[in-house]
Amino acid sequence: MQTRFLNVAIFLLALSPPGFGATDLLIENVAIVSPDQARATGPRNVLIRDGRIASISDKPIEAKGAQRLNGRNKFLAPGIMDSHVHVSDAVGLPYGGDDIDTAALRAEYFRQQPRSYLYFGVTHVLDTFGTPDLLAQFESQPQHPDLFHCGGAPVLDGYPTALIDPGVRYKLVPTWVYEPANAEKHPLPAGADAKDHTPEAIVETLAAGGARCIKIFVEDGFGERSMWPLMSADTQRRLYNAAHAKGLPVIAHGNAIDMQQHAMAGGVDVFAHGIWHWGKANAPQGIPDVVAAHLKTIHARNIGYQATLRVVYGEADLFRHDTLKDPVYAKVVPAALLKWYATDAGQWYKKAMKADYGDASDEKIMHDEIVAADRGRRAVKYLHDLGHPLLLASDTPSGPIYGNQPGYDTYREMRSMAQAGIPLDAIFRAATINNAKQFGLDRDYGTVQVGKIANLLLLTANPLESIRAWSMIDRIVLRGVAIERETLAADRVR
Ligand SMILES: [Zn+2]
Repeated sequence: MQTRFLNVAIFLLALSPPGFGATDLLIENVAIVSPDQARATGPRNVLIRDGRIASISDKPIEAKGAQRLNGRNKFLAPGIMDSHVHVSDAVGLPYGGDDIDTAALRAEYFRQQPRSYLYFGVTHVLDTFGTPDLLAQFESQPQHPDLFHCGGAPVLDGYPTALIDPGVRYKLVPTWVYEPANAEKHPLPAGADAKDHTPEAIVETLAAGGARCIKIFVEDGFGERSMWPLMSADTQRRLYNAAHAKGLPVIAHGNAIDMQQHAMAGGVDVFAHGIWHWGKANAPQGIPDVVAAHLKTIHARNIGYQATLRVVYGEADLFRHDTLKDPVYAKVVPAALLKWYATDAGQWYKKAMKADYGDASDEKIMHDEIVAADRGRRAVKYLHDLGHPLLLASDTPSGPIYGNQPGYDTYREMRSMAQAGIPLDAIFRAATINNAKQFGLDRDYGTVQVGKIANLLLLTANPLESIRAWSMIDRIVLRGVAIERETLAADRVR
């Protein structure tokens, strides 16, 4: 199937005049909404050349031969950045399953995935833990968001490698860090050399692979459980120093208050999740003192915060009977895969979760998830009220959860933030300039300004006036090339 796309590309090249792809783009009479300005501008002309914004003016711009787009009554915004995605995971399909039944579905998913992000205006993404071959596959698709990635440095036998069979664990994720403090229960695997698995050596390896950040996992077991090893504060501090020596931020998985506190002891720049496990401090409303104190520390230390509300809502979606009836899924999921989710085999993860819950009813599980998500909402709202800049991050997919689909999930994360009470301008900054700054990309991304990469959205409504504007997309501009939205849809007419 891969060759089909190659053929199409060759065909298009043959049809196109010389210089195809290098055509200037002129967007005329468009209102600009950009986080460096408090409100939408009056009509502007925007010239895009060689994939970057070349000029912006309220006067006519001379641009002979440029492709012209009428921007009247439309808004030009920066493309959205989602700073927590996993492009290596085919949503809802069993992990590592190259078995005959799902291989074709997996291939279809990976072909559509980058287009689904673009369909919802997500023009650049940060993959926080992927495999090099699948990151490369994402970038080999003809249309795809710009991709950046973190390198994963899990502690030996810790989460998430604890979920992988020990027989293949060290081969699948070779960048584990050896923790001498855990040596009794988790000794060095046969054939491994401790000096290849020091925090410094692992950071070196990940940086050489192009990582933009280092991801660690502070998780001893979900919820109240505690069975997986953690990195000691000393080892984590060495990793943090080694990463900083290379200019790389450290991003930590952790969604429980005790785990985030553990992570803080060793040094951390970004939390990859909000906190929704409050331990004994769980409360039906408000913010308990211990949670408030923790959030104040996050703010005081200027630690990035990815609320990832969709992680928990996505789990709730598994137990909602009408989830797959949402017509938007047809835009972002290949039809065959959407059909498969509804089959008995497609419900495998729901069944596994249900067994984990002692076979409680669907309604009870959904309710518990929504209650947990509500704690996540209260936490992010509290942090926002402290004046903390937020990051847009959906964690798509956080697990084999079919509700969490590329692009749509990013949009729903923004909607969840709005429902949590975060104002539209703060969500706008979270989706654009805050993410760019946090990961050192603000020279190229995050605002509509001359010199920046032309990853832009032409919207038919103002995103400072409604959250729905983010789904009212006329064109996606990807490195200067304007794409009509519906050509990206999974159900487009071919
Ligand atoms: Zn994740």
